[in-house]
Amino acid sequence: MISVQNLCKYFKKDAIRALDGISVDIRQGDVIAAIGPSGSGKSTFLRSLNLLEMPTSGSILFHGVDITQKKVNIDQLRQKMGMVFQHFNLFPHRTILQNMTLAPEKVLRMPREMATEKALQLLRRVGLEDRADAYPIQLSGGQKQRVAIVRALMMEPEVMLFDEPTSALDPEMVGEVLDVMKELAHTGMTMVVVTHEMGFAREVGNRVLFLDQGKLVEEGTPEQIFGAPKNPRLQEFLAKVL
Ligand code: ADP
Ligand code: MG
Repeated sequence: MISVQNLCKYFKKDAIRALDGISVDIRQGDVIAAIGPSGSGKSTFLRSLNLLEMPTSGSILFHGVDITQKKVNIDQLRQKMGMVFQHFNLFPHRTILQNMTLAPEKVLRMPREMATEKALQLLRRVGLEDRADAYPIQLSGGQKQRVAIVRALMMEPEVMLFDEPTSALDPEMVGEVLDVMKELAHTGMTMVVVTHEMGFAREVGNRVLFLDQGKLVEEGTPEQIFGAPKNPRLQEFLAKVL
């Protein structure tokens, strides 16, 4: 589905090599966990996939089309790639329902009734149907993140990108968000998840990427990465986080 080829992203006139030649293929139905120390390039990698960052060099083929080329319609691309951030990014002055229906109505020209029905269905799926008319501030962090996930699903994306979706949550709310993500993975959704939740990476991911200093240092199944890590930097990282 997505083929990343020798992707580089430099900042500060090339002084910072956030991504330094990353190549990876993402297949339909993959649930990829991206792990690595802070500053290793995980967010930049994820943000490059839907062009929130424009790569310095390299290419990203999405269904065979290089999306780093100028003629690509970025809005259309982003519809196909849902993104969930650490800090939810819900619109504070809109109700949960309005947060859900805004983009489908505006971008997909979905009739309001249809958008509302779809939103309520998705909210039901994450146990939040009764909060449709609440405002984000009235929800817990875990609830907000569940809304952010189903809001992204409103656009029927082909792939979902998650950037540390549980890092800003109180510990008791991490599980409810991971459960929603786990359920989503079981529906066959293609997912790329930047996470510090090694349990999730191990149980739900089918592949794990370890990034360090902008490089994809090691890649493998959870069994390989957690059971028999080869690279010393991965071994060191795991010794700290496990
Ligand atoms: P991670 O998500 O793994 O913590 P990031 O992708 O956020 O890492 O960052 C990788 C490197 O790129 C870091 O050194 C970071 O400081 C740098 N970086 C990220 N975004 C920018 C930016 N907009 N401007 C300058 N440097 C950046
Ligand atoms: Mg990050």
